[in-house]
This record gives sequence, C-alpha cells and structure tokens, in this order.
Amino acid sequence: MVPTPKRQWQVARVAAIETLTPRIKGFHFTLPEPPAFTAGQHMDVRLVAPDGYEAQRSYSIASAPERPDRIELAIERLEDGEVSSFFHDVVQVGDEIELRGPLGGHFVWSVEDGGPILLIGGGSGVVPLMSMVRHHAARASSIPVTLVTSARTAVDLLYLDEQRRLQANGVFRLVARVTREAAATPDLGSGRIDRPLLQGVLDAMPDPRIVFVCGSNPFVGTVADLLLDLGVTAGRIRTERFGG
Ligand SMILES: Cc1cc2nc3c(=O)[nH]c(=O)nc-3n(C[C@H](O)[C@H](O)[C@H](O)COP(=O)(O)OP(=O)(O)OC[C@H]3O[C@@H](n4cnc5c(N)ncnc54)[C@H](O)[C@@H]3O)c2cc1C
Repeated sequence: MVPTPKRQWQVARVAAIETLTPRIKGFHFTLPEPPAFTAGQHMDVRLVAPDGYEAQRSYSIASAPERPDRIELAIERLEDGEVSSFFHDVVQVGDEIELRGPLGGHFVWSVEDGGPILLIGGGSGVVPLMSMVRHHAARASSIPVTLVTSARTAVDLLYLDEQRRLQANGVFRLVARVTREAAATPDLGSGRIDRPLLQGVLDAMPDPRIVFVCGSNPFVGTVADLLLDLGVTAGRIRTERFGG
C-alpha cells in the first residue's frame, strides 16, 4: 500500500474523549492511514464550516509512536479560543475531523538519539514531552529522562498520575511545581520554574544531551534564558512555542 503523504488531509474519527484537567481534554483519534511519527511531532487540524469558512491549528501528539493506530491530542481550552472551544464544547465521540501529519522535524526525540534528556513544559506544553516520556517507557529505555513541569494547581498538572507511576522505573524523574497553591503532597513543590529549581535539576543531570522546552511564548522565553544563563549551550536547547 502506498502511504498517505503527510501533507495530505485524512478524515479521522474521534474514538474517545477524556477530561485530563479542568482545562484540558484528551481526544483519541483513529485514522484511515495511521501515521508513523517521532515523539515531539504535531498534527494539523482543519475545521470547515458549512459556509466554507476554515480554521486550522496545530496540536502536538501526546501518544507514543508505538501506538500510531490511536493518536492522542490534548487540547487546552482558551477563553474565546475558536478551535479549542469547539473541541471542548462541540466535538463528540464518533465525530469525523480532518487531520494531517505528522509535521515538525526539529522538536523530536527517539531513544536512538541518546541522552540524558531534560524536558521542561508549562501547562499544555507537556503534551509533546509526554509523547517522548511514553516512547521512552514503551522502549524500556535506560536513558535518564527528567521532566520538569509546572501548572497553576495540582489538578492542572497534565498526566500527573501516569508520570508518578512511570518514576518506578528508576530512570524517569518528575519534578513538578504548582504556582497558585501550596503544594498538597510532598512530591510537588510550590512556585514557578525559576533559576534555583533549574540549577538543582542541572546539578542532578549535569550534562543533558538535549533540553526540550515547550509552552506559551513567555514560558519558553523565560526558561530558555535561564538555561543559557546557567551555562547550557544554545545548540542543546530546543524549543516549541504554542503561542499566547
Ligand atoms: C506546533 C504547535 C503545537 C501545539 N500543540 C498544542 C497542544 O498540544 N495543545 C494545545 O492546547 N495547544 C497547542 N498549540 C496551540 C494551538 O495550535 C492553538 O493556537 C490554540 O489551541 C489556540 O487556538 P484557538 O483557535 O482556540 O484560539 P484563537 O482563537 O486562535 O486565539 C484566542 C486567543 O488566545 C491567544 N492564544 C493562542 N494560543 C495561545 C496559547 N497557547 N496560550 C495562550 N494564549 C494563546 C491568541 O493570541 C488569541 O488572543 C500548538 C501550537 C503549535 C504551533
């Protein structure tokens, strides 16, 4: 069979919808031609209204490349956001949605690339990093991986339970922070991802091969500046900006 070119639209079916946090839902899609992808890549979504009006957005893949038959996107509701509100308020299981991809070749990682790797995500910026973490677990890799994540409150921390479970393998480490409440459990810290926190993470992982940073524009800008300031060379930092 000739594979569908990744720039061609496919009609995907919504197989399941999960409430992941109060603001983020996970949408699981089945596609006629399951796309082979690398952790960190994204899909484009196209919505077309009956009058022909089109809206197109990019969403990172949250699922592992080992499961191309079921692509998971995790979409955060933005106030007045055109496409994200549509997904949260209108889309239902069984609906058909146009997707194309995988897209993006810079913000990607597979175990063949080696490590150690440091992943830093704010809010929904954890999505492509989770694909990397799930890929790492699916391949039972011994490469050290640290994920630094931050959200407003504990219930806003995306995939927290799964990340806590994955730490049992001894090579994946989670460093999670909440910014708008006192940390409720000993494994969560309070406060932003700041210089002392990153200094501590880099003390424990002194020579990361690649540092992936993903989130809103301000989040990525702040974290990338801190990393440079702490001596991580620019060539080792890869960023993905979601907007805002
Ligand atoms: C490569 C890539 C991957 C992405 N992956 C994801 C993902 O996995 N999950 C996800 O939820 N989003 C992701 N995004 C963002 C997504 O593409 C949309 O921009 C987002 O859903 C807003 O679209 P909207 O139509 O709801 O809002 P719009 O109607 O386009 O915008 C509403 C308002 O929100 C502002 N805004 C747009 N994006 C953001 C943002 N990220 N944070 C704060 N304010 C914003 C706009 O400037 C505008 O003022 C990704 C973006 C890129 C480029």
